[in-house]
Amino acid sequence: MIKTDIIIIGAGPTGLFTVFEAGLLKLKTHLIDALPQPGGQCSEIYPKKPIYDIPAYPEILAGDLVDRLMEQIKPFSPGFTLGERAQNLETLEDGTFVVTTNKGTAHNAPVVVIAGGLGSFEPRKPPIGNIDDFEDKGVAYMIKDPEVYRDKKVVIAGGGDSALDWSIYLSDIAAEVSLVHRRNEFRGALDSVEKAAALAKAGKIKLFTEAEVKKLYGDEHLEAVVVEHNDKARGESYVEADHFIPLFGLSPKLGPIGDWGLEIEKNAIKVNNSYDYQTNIPGVYAVGDVNTYPGKLKLILSGFHEAAVMCQSAYQRINPGKRFVMKYTTVGGVTGFDGSVKEAKKEVVQSILA
Ligand SMILES: Cc1cc2nc3c(=O)[nH]c(=O)nc-3n(C[C@H](O)[C@H](O)[C@H](O)COP(=O)(O)OP(=O)(O)OC[C@H]3O[C@@H](n4cnc5c(N)ncnc54)[C@H](O)[C@@H]3O)c2cc1C
Repeated sequence: MIKTDIIIIGAGPTGLFTVFEAGLLKLKTHLIDALPQPGGQCSEIYPKKPIYDIPAYPEILAGDLVDRLMEQIKPFSPGFTLGERAQNLETLEDGTFVVTTNKGTAHNAPVVVIAGGLGSFEPRKPPIGNIDDFEDKGVAYMIKDPEVYRDKKVVIAGGGDSALDWSIYLSDIAAEVSLVHRRNEFRGALDSVEKAAALAKAGKIKLFTEAEVKKLYGDEHLEAVVVEHNDKARGESYVEADHFIPLFGLSPKLGPIGDWGLEIEKNAIKVNNSYDYQTNIPGVYAVGDVNTYPGKLKLILSGFHEAAVMCQSAYQRINPGKRFVMKYTTVGGVTGFDGSVKEAKKEVVQSILA
């Protein structure tokens, strides 16, 4: 059981900044995210788009914003459970919560913060009858660790950037890479399309266009896939495969969080915004895009503000009766759990305040 002060569900910009605000209050945090990397929508949907409304950044790429947030929270050494979806919420007799993921990882804390944004990004699965039987036995919908595919036979399906980029990357590592796409044209960046075509010509990627994976075979583990060509005259191809990775994109769903007894309005969690962004379950908060209240703005800066307010309330819940005096970071500095210290320039501040 992973124990911490605050379990944060969702490692998007809001969840990441919650780590920082909690850290200032000496509260430890652990993040859970269904995606294999932190950053939420910024990393998954638009990493290369510039954002113009982050205070003090006239322009910053969404991916760079995530990198900066990761750098900012590093001193507070948060834990991460990535690539796993928070599935169950249970309240124990002592009032603390246990959040368990779809892979069975259990986390225990007195406070839970849901920073789940649009919901957990669920993979779009191809309609293959027995695909569920091979999940974690050769079938995966995202690549967490490319080393898993070293010297293996891999079939990737899809026509976008992910399918192209991973095929190109794995062509150096895997024993064999096949890329299957149901059309002739790819949707990815021109550069990647050209690279994949060149690798196919060089025999490093087996390219199947106007074709779809229709059947999976194997006993304990995947052994082969059947590729059906749109042109029926070409029939089917039997391709040996240790791994099949359909990369058809991800769609967000509130998912299991919707069954936790929280008040939901229009697919978002209702919170008390006059005080601390707590939900109808005391000790469970919701911040960022996932919550709703009168006047809510679904913007990154709203999530940052809500995280700061909710951490003050969480502190009181975890340390009942203990007085906490909020200090500017310019006055209190930042002391990380890793021993790092960012000094406040006290003499300067004191002389100004005097
Ligand atoms: C194309 C585009 C452009 C945008 N431009 C701007 C802009 O210019 N300025 C601006 O302020 N905002 C912009 N936004 C909105 C901004 O991205 C969101 O407001 C912001 O990402 C919300 O952050 P969040 O951390 O609350 O949620 P998210 O970024 O959605 O992150 C939530 C995370 O929670 C995870 N999660 C959810 N449920 C679970 C679960 N059960 N278990 C595990 N993990 C879970 C998800 O996988 C996800 O990673 C834009 C959005 C898009 C799509």
